[in-house]
Amino acid sequence: MEESDFELLGEYYSMLERQGPGSPETTLKALSFVEVQRPIVRIADIGCGTGAHTLLLAEYLPGSQVTALDLFPVFIEQLNANAAQAGLQDRVKGITGNMEALPFEPDSLDLIWSEGAIYNIGFERGIREWRAFLKTGGYLAVSEISWLTQERPSELQDYWAAAYPEINTASAKMAQMEAAGYTPRAAFVIPENCWTDHYYSPQVAVREAFLEKHPGNPAVKAFIENDRAEADLYERFKQYYSYVFYIGQKV
Ligand code: SAM
Repeated sequence: MEESDFELLGEYYSMLERQGPGSPETTLKALSFVEVQRPIVRIADIGCGTGAHTLLLAEYLPGSQVTALDLFPVFIEQLNANAAQAGLQDRVKGITGNMEALPFEPDSLDLIWSEGAIYNIGFERGIREWRAFLKTGGYLAVSEISWLTQERPSELQDYWAAAYPEINTASAKMAQMEAAGYTPRAAFVIPENCWTDHYYSPQVAVREAFLEKHPGNPAVKAFIENDRAEADLYERFKQYYSYVFYIGQKV
C-alpha cells in the first residue's frame, strides 16, 4: 500500500464509529462467555480501530487495564481521545503497533480481544502466536469471517478465494482453535444489524463527504467503488457468510 493510500484509508475509516461489522450488544454477548473465575486484569484489544468495543470492555470490567493496539496512528489518537472523554484514560491505553509483533510479555494477559481484525495476520497464525501472551486459563475472543453453509455460489466463492482464502466454516475454525491449544467455549454468528445498521449504513453519508473532500481523486473514487461493491455483495449473499465470534480458553 502506498503511503497516500494508507492516509486515505485512515482518514475515511476514522470518520466512522466502527471500522468493521459488530455492535455493543454483540461485544457484550461475547463477553458473557468469558467466565470470570478470577479477576480479568490485563486485556489486549488487537486491531482495535478507533475502539468502540475497547471502551465497552473497560466499562464492563472495572478492575481491568486495557491495551488497545492498531497499525493506524490516526485510529489510536481517536481512541485515546475517546477514552479521555469517557474518563477511562487511566485504564485504557491505545498504542500503535503490529499484530505480527505484539509488545506483550509471555503468559501475561487474562484476555485477548479482537473484532474483525485477525484476518490481517490470518486466523490460524493469529490464534497460535497470540496464545503465547495469554496466561493458562486466559481467554481469547475473536470475530472472524466464516462460511455459514457448506455450499455457496461460485461468484462468492471466487471473491473470497481472492480476498481471504482462509475463510472457512465455523466447525473448521473451532477445530483450529482446539488444535492450537484452546478449549472452545462458544461460537456465535453476529446478527445482520452488525453489518447494516452498525457498519454499512453509516458509510453512506461518509462516502459522500469523502468524495466531496477529494474531488477528482482517482484513488478515492476507486476506494469508494470497491467499498460499495463490498456492501452490495453482502446484501446479495448474506445467507452464506458472516463474522462469527469465537471464544476460547487457553489450555
Ligand atoms: N476492531 C475494529 C472494529 O471492529 O471496529 C476495527 C476492525 S477493522 C475491519 C481491522 C483493523 O485492523 C483496522 O483498524 C486496521 O487498522 C487493523 N490492522 C490491520 N493490519 C494490522 C496489523 N498488522 N496490526 C495491527 N492492526 C492492524
